[in-house]
Amino acid sequence: MADYILALDQGTTSSRAIVFDHNGQIVALAQQEFPQRYPQPGWVEHNPAQIWETQYAVAQQVLKKAQITAGDVAAIGITNQRETTVIWDRETGEPIHNAIVWQDRRTARFCDQLKAEGFDRIIREKTGLVTDAYFSGTKVTWLLDNVPGARAKAERGRLAFGTIDSYLIWKLTEGALHITDISNASRTMLYDIHKNWWSTTITKRLDIPQSILPQVVPSSMVYRETAAALFGTPITLAGIAGDQQAATFGQVCFEPGMAKNTYGTGCFLLLNTGSKTVESHNNLLTTAAWKLENGPEQYALEGSIFIAGAAIQWLRDELQIIKDASETQALAEQLDSNEGVYLVPAFVGLGAPYWDQYARGTIVGLTRGAGRAHIARAALESIAYQTRDVAAAMQADSGLDLQTLRVDGGAVRNDFLMQFQADILGVPVQRPAVTETTALGAAYLAGLATGFWSSQAEIAAQWRVERTFEPRMSADQRDQLYAGWQRAVERAKGWAQD
Ligand code: ADP
Repeated sequence: MADYILALDQGTTSSRAIVFDHNGQIVALAQQEFPQRYPQPGWVEHNPAQIWETQYAVAQQVLKKAQITAGDVAAIGITNQRETTVIWDRETGEPIHNAIVWQDRRTARFCDQLKAEGFDRIIREKTGLVTDAYFSGTKVTWLLDNVPGARAKAERGRLAFGTIDSYLIWKLTEGALHITDISNASRTMLYDIHKNWWSTTITKRLDIPQSILPQVVPSSMVYRETAAALFGTPITLAGIAGDQQAATFGQVCFEPGMAKNTYGTGCFLLLNTGSKTVESHNNLLTTAAWKLENGPEQYALEGSIFIAGAAIQWLRDELQIIKDASETQALAEQLDSNEGVYLVPAFVGLGAPYWDQYARGTIVGLTRGAGRAHIARAALESIAYQTRDVAAAMQADSGLDLQTLRVDGGAVRNDFLMQFQADILGVPVQRPAVTETTALGAAYLAGLATGFWSSQAEIAAQWRVERTFEPRMSADQRDQLYAGWQRAVERAKGWAQD
């Protein structure tokens, strides 16, 4: 009897594998970081071989840690950093270049050109997305234009494009499947979320041959088994979703109006809008959430913040004012307030709701007495302010008032951040017992397809809150602090424009 589900969570900074039991509890977890590559300012790459090797290694490790074998696993669910673009050779399986990561800005100029032509309106209408270098589409064009021989090979049908889910499935099935699920497809800027197929209007304009694109499949269904050699016994592959959609599923935000925010490298606030696409007038994204095998496509409104926890990594790796992310809590708590210091972590531009590709990071309000505590506090606070920016846009678009916010991701361990978030939003923040909701969502999708869980209702009953952070700040103080943030953002905007 297979008693477990294995979730593979391929993130921006690390690959993880988690074994879940029938109650949705974590049995074992394995994780490996892998190198980030910054070949030029604004460029970010990953080596696909390192992505695969770390992901495969943690999958093997986690089975060992859980003291189980492949035969005990009912299914694998996959979730992944989204938009990150890989192109590989169908015959050799070799990637033609490093993966271009979602944070990479190299195609910003091309996006400007598309906007100048008015093509951004077509993109918005068909894909629900803002025209931005963040998404896969222009990254694919860049690879075909810049890797010698790539375009000719693509025209001959030799190349395959995929986001990380596609690449992992290709590796896990030794090239038998070239697929992606609708949540990942909807982030490519090439996919028509209303017609549910690749948009030829867009692929033509971006000069991308259709033969390179994966087949789009539901987020929950039996796709195939893993290649026999990988885990001893083949395991059923049965769930795929982009990390943020998976986290929304893992937070069991199944009903329209339910929202979650994930605090990882970036921050991603998603509001379930059910089977309807809600058009944004406040620079949010309309995105596919998931599709169960026999159900309708589900949609969400999304606010994407590029740098959140990554600002904390920056304190650790570049400024070197902390050794570990967790130190920021005690540092921030040394101060009673931010003392006027704001950090706008626009390291790769600003995402929602500003969408300013040329904004750059800035620290304002420094005085002679400002030190590492101020910087650490300002970095944590910036995560909460950016979330408020997005929450405000979401309320305006949906007409719904946020009642509570369900949170997850690595940075929610920080109690200072969670309390400040509740204070600055003025709504309670709920931290669930299982914060690995991204992996849990992928596990749920795979478990539903294989009958491991019988229904969404059964899953919804498993969600538990670990701690609720109630807002304690006065409205006056909240408004005053937030006004300071908005002034700081003005200083960061447009900085890198020639
Ligand atoms: P991802 O999946 O995007 O790689 P995770 O969900 O694993 O991210 O979260 C890791 C992020 O959370 C890192 O950017 C890290 O800086 C941040 N982080 C982890 N622990 C803390 C903490 N105690 N306080 C603040 N930030 C933290």
